[in-house]
Amino acid sequence: MEKIVIIGAGVAGVNAATKLVDNGYPGEYITIIDMGNDPYKRKPEEVMTGFMGAGGWSDGKLTYHTAIGGHMSKYCGEEKTMELFDEVITNFKRFHPKPEEVQCSNPEAEPDFIKPYFGLRLFPVWHVGTDYLHEIGKNWYDYLVSKGVGFIWNTKVTNIDFKRQTVFTNPVKHNGYICYDRLIFGVGKSGIDFGKELAEKYDFPTEPKPVQIGVRFEAPQHHFQKLIDISYDFKLYRKFEDEGVSLRSFCTNNNAAYVALEETYGDYSYNGHAKKDESYRNNMTNFGILMEVQGIDNPFDWSRELVSKVNKVDIASDGKLGRFRPKYRAGLYYSPSRNKSKTSEGEWVKAHFIGEEGLQTVRDAFQGYFTYIEDFIEDMKKVFPTLKDDWGMYIPEVKYLSPEPLVDYDTLALADFNNVHFVGDALSARGITVSGAQGTYVAEYIIHCHNEELKPI
Ligand SMILES: Cc1cc2nc3c(=O)[nH]c(=O)nc-3n(C[C@H](O)[C@H](O)[C@H](O)COP(=O)(O)OP(=O)(O)OC[C@H]3O[C@@H](n4cnc5c(N)ncnc54)[C@H](O)[C@@H]3O)c2cc1C
Repeated sequence: MEKIVIIGAGVAGVNAATKLVDNGYPGEYITIIDMGNDPYKRKPEEVMTGFMGAGGWSDGKLTYHTAIGGHMSKYCGEEKTMELFDEVITNFKRFHPKPEEVQCSNPEAEPDFIKPYFGLRLFPVWHVGTDYLHEIGKNWYDYLVSKGVGFIWNTKVTNIDFKRQTVFTNPVKHNGYICYDRLIFGVGKSGIDFGKELAEKYDFPTEPKPVQIGVRFEAPQHHFQKLIDISYDFKLYRKFEDEGVSLRSFCTNNNAAYVALEETYGDYSYNGHAKKDESYRNNMTNFGILMEVQGIDNPFDWSRELVSKVNKVDIASDGKLGRFRPKYRAGLYYSPSRNKSKTSEGEWVKAHFIGEEGLQTVRDAFQGYFTYIEDFIEDMKKVFPTLKDDWGMYIPEVKYLSPEPLVDYDTLALADFNNVHFVGDALSARGITVSGAQGTYVAEYIIHCHNEELKPI
C-alpha cells in the first residue's frame, strides 16, 4: 500500500482524500499537511488557510460549466469533466447540514439590453452559501478522520526533495521530514510562491500565463437587478484581441454582499463574498472587474509590483474625523459619491480613500491598462442607467496565476516525477469545482493503480 502525502487541506486535497477513502483506500496511509487550522479552530479572518483552504470561507458558488473556473476538460474531455464536477457537488451536499438548500441557478438567454457594450457568459452555478461552509467543513473533516486520514495542522511544508520522496516541514514535526510514495501538491493560491520556488529549483517546464488584475466594484443592487434576475452571478465580458486584453466581471455577490480584504505576500487586495442568512442582507452588489493581459514578461512579478504600488500605509479613514485611529496597510478606495461599506462583522472595510489625484497614481501603477477598467465602468453606466455615480471601487483585485507546470494529462503528474501530482489552484484551476475535480481525478488514477496491483497474476 502506498503512503500518500497531500500538501494542502484545500478543496483539491480534501476531495482527493475523500475519493480515496470512499473507494476503500485505507485512511491510515493518507496524511494531509496544512499550514492552517482544522475547521473547529479556523477563524473567519483565516481566509486562505485551513480545512477546505480558500474554499472554506469562500462564497460557496460552485460553477458548473467546463468553460469556467480553469482548465479541466483539456485534461480529460468535456464529458468526464462534468462527471467529476458532479462528484464535487455531491460531496458539498453530502456534508451540508441542509442539503435541500443547495440550489442551482441556470440562466438561459443573453438579454438585448447589454448589447452592444458587453457579452454575457451564461452558465449554471450551484449555491452552497458562505454561512454553511463552516458546518460543511466540520462534517467533512469528521468523516475523513473517522476513516483514519491523518492531519497535521499549523505546519508549513518548506521544501520537497522529489528524488528522495521527502517533504520538510516547519515547525519541525515528525523529525522535520515526512516520506511519501506518492505526493499530491494542492497548496492553492496561498502556496503559489512555494510552487514557483519548486518550479525554479527543479526547472519544471511551465505554460506561459497571463496577468489577471483589476478592481472590486461595488454598488447598490437595484442598479443591476434587471441582469441579476437573469443571471445571479453574471459575467459581463469584452475582448480586445489585437491588444491582448480581455475583461470580465468576476465573482458577483448580491443581496448580502460584502467586500473582503485579502493578504497575499504581505500586500493587500480585495475580493468579495455573499452571506445567505437574511439577517446579513445589505442589498449591495459587488464583483471584480478583472483584466487579463497577455504577453507580459514575468506576470507574477509584474502583478506583485503593481499591487504593492497601490497599497498604502495610513491612518484609518472611515469618513469620521476627530478621534485616534491606528495606522494600517491596505489598498485604495475610490468613489465619485459613496462611502466605503462595512464587512459582515460590522467594521469598515479597510481601504484608504483616494480622490482624482490618487486615481492618477493608480493609472500610473497600471501602466496604461487602467483605461480599460475605466471604460468598462463608463459603459456599465450606459447599460444600467440608474448607476450614474452611485458606485465605488476597491483597488486592487488580483488573481496570481501559478506558474503551471506541464503535467501528464492522464495523471496530472510531473513528467520527471510521476508520483507527484499537481492539483487545484497550484495547477490551472481558478475555482472550487475545478480544484475539487482535479483532486478527484488524481485519486481515481491512484485507485486504478492500486486495483491493478491487487489483481492476482
Ligand atoms: C474570498 C474568496 C472567495 C472565493 N469564492 C469562490 C467561489 O464562490 N466559488 C469558487 O469556485 N471559487 C471561489 N474562490 C476560489 C476558490 O476558493 C479556490 O479556487 C479553491 O479553494 C482552490 O482550491 P485548492 O485546493 O487548490 O487551494 P485552497 O483551497 O486555497 O487550499 C490550499 C491549502 O494549502 C495550504 N497550504 C498552502 N501552502 C502550504 C504549505 N507550504 N504547507 C502546508 N500547507 C499549505 C493552505 O493552508 C490551504 O489550506 C474564492 C476564493 C477566495 C479567497
